[in-house]
Amino acid sequence: MLKESAEKKRERAEKIAKNLLKEYPSDQTALHYGDPFQLLVAVILSAQCTDARVNMVTPGLFARLSTPHDFAHADVRELEALIHSTGFYHNKAKNIIGCSQSLLQYHNGIVPQTMDELFALPGVGRKTANVVLGAAFGKIEGVVVDTHVIRLSNRLNLTKEVSAVKIEQDLMPLIKKKYWFHFSHSLILHGRKVCSARKPMCTECSILQFCPSFLV
Ligand code: SF4
Repeated sequence: MLKESAEKKRERAEKIAKNLLKEYPSDQTALHYGDPFQLLVAVILSAQCTDARVNMVTPGLFARLSTPHDFAHADVRELEALIHSTGFYHNKAKNIIGCSQSLLQYHNGIVPQTMDELFALPGVGRKTANVVLGAAFGKIEGVVVDTHVIRLSNRLNLTKEVSAVKIEQDLMPLIKKKYWFHFSHSLILHGRKVCSARKPMCTECSILQFCPSFLV
């Protein structure tokens, strides 16, 4: 494939974004939550797990524990049992308790609204922070990069990187900032529906004309 200029790549990325935003007009997260803290917990639980599975677990979890105070003082074994089916439950329980303790200690139990403050919480990476900022507060400070965004942005040749942090840096200059949250959300939905890891359905893809991996 011929090397694409930065300008051409930006134009192509904008067309991809435009098509995907039309196909997936909603930017609402599939995770169910009652407040920003519950969203933060749900996003931590969603690591290496489907949103549907998390949504099966959180009603029971939040009926038993719902505030930073509840989680900060929770029994780790009980929390592990409540979130067991989301996988990696030892780490997730440790992170949720640590995160809740930090919220109480440094933020009066209130979820902060900046990347730096969120990123400093135990168990919170840029992906989690970007989801919470975008979905709970309507603030856009970066691009959410999950496993679908990693796969699709590479297939679409918008990046050649494999690390989420570097991919985010590659995607940000390609898309207007106001669309960052919605764009990554639409990539995630497209990855689930059409461009799956094992069997991309290229002939049914709305952005096939912009994709160098079409039928490859
Ligand atoms: S054309 Fe195929 S590989 Fe490219 S985004 Fe669409 S489904 Fe994925």
